[in-house]
Amino acid sequence: MARVLQKYGGTSLQSTERIRLIADRAIREQENGSQLVIVVSAMGDTTNQLVQLASEVSSCTAGRELDLLLSTGEQISSSLLALAIQERGREAIALTGAQAGLETEEVHGDARITDVNTAKIREELNAGKIVLVAGFQGCAKNQEICTLGRGGSDTTAAALAAALQADRCEIFTDVDGVYSADPRYVLGARKHERLNYTHLLTLAETGAEVVHPRAVAYAQDHQIPLVVRSSFHEQEGTKIQHDSGIAFPVVGVTFQKGLSYFQWRGKIEEEELLAGLADVNSLVGNVQVSNGHTDLIIKEEHGSEMSAWLNENKHKLGINSIQHAEGMTAVHLVFADLDEKRRLAPLLNEKELVPSGDVYRINCAPDAWSVVVPEEYAVEVAQRIHDWFMGLESKKASIAL
Ligand code: ADP
Ligand code: ASP
Ligand code: MG
Repeated sequence: MARVLQKYGGTSLQSTERIRLIADRAIREQENGSQLVIVVSAMGDTTNQLVQLASEVSSCTAGRELDLLLSTGEQISSSLLALAIQERGREAIALTGAQAGLETEEVHGDARITDVNTAKIREELNAGKIVLVAGFQGCAKNQEICTLGRGGSDTTAAALAAALQADRCEIFTDVDGVYSADPRYVLGARKHERLNYTHLLTLAETGAEVVHPRAVAYAQDHQIPLVVRSSFHEQEGTKIQHDSGIAFPVVGVTFQKGLSYFQWRGKIEEEELLAGLADVNSLVGNVQVSNGHTDLIIKEEHGSEMSAWLNENKHKLGINSIQHAEGMTAVHLVFADLDEKRRLAPLLNEKELVPSGDVYRINCAPDAWSVVVPEEYAVEVAQRIHDWFMGLESKKASIAL
């Protein structure tokens, strides 16, 4: 009997009507002979609304009560979906992350999964039930509910798929697969039929929010076949497996908004610099030193803290003329591999691709070519880079692709 893990995102669960349609779909999958576990996100914009509610009574941005609050969004979805399936005469059970056996570190707001105890889920599957799991949450050893960071239901799904040795993990969303760029912003983006894990991981790590990078890493580590597909129709999505090559030298264009850029004359050892950064994860790409200048890109929420630290310590550090720009976006061109990057990146003409505004080159991922530009130009730059590589295809012969 095939064991299938499905995950439905918030856009797929906008309304009770959508929940009823997903209940029908789940029953069809079970009738095909599958044991089915479904991980759900919060309905529509619920998580943002809960964050907003919290902000009306508190300035706290992460902590136990906030996690308790945010975890309810997913619990509403799983309960409603279980009720809808039961209404159709089938057995179903809704579980919170803790009930489903997801153990996390004791970190509020961005916890990692440390262990998965699947005993309860296996028992319910063996009793013939469809199991609905609230995504984005788990329970730490100290019994506290911890959430997994925004987009974390993908991670729940991949972790459960790995622990249950599922035959496949299907991520249902509002697009019908992984595209060469976010189709909401870039015209002419095209769908990949197949990708390998490394390709999707680089896309996800450089900002393609279609699947959370931790979910891709789980699937890769445990060799779980992933499928990204639409919950709105039956079309096949993008299949992700370790041996799926792509026919084209470029995987896609991604962007990461909300960055702060710093540049100064002089050199600081990376370790020394990281001491000024409360959260090391906020560093985007490498600290770059060239021609006596240092470039640093970090997430904007840590920009003022970094700026204060640099200014306080500049004499001690022996640096001066610190430039600081907020509201920056990194645009990345992800190549199929390092060889393709070495071959094709020299053909990129920065002046043509970034016609206006300040532009900074950075190194973010080995297989990506990246620039940082003011946010207002980002979509145009992404479109130009995308047009550039789509143009390559038609010029295949002349550049010997
Ligand atoms: P869900 O609610 O299902 O988790 P998300 O909003 O997190 O959905 O992810 C789906 C969105 O990801 C799409 O609507 C699309 O705009 C965006 N996206 C970004 N990059 C890509 C890409 N390369 N391919 C497909 N979708 C992408
Ligand atoms: N509901 C959470 C969020 O909006 C988790 C998820 O959707 O995956 O980020
Ligand atoms: Mg998502």
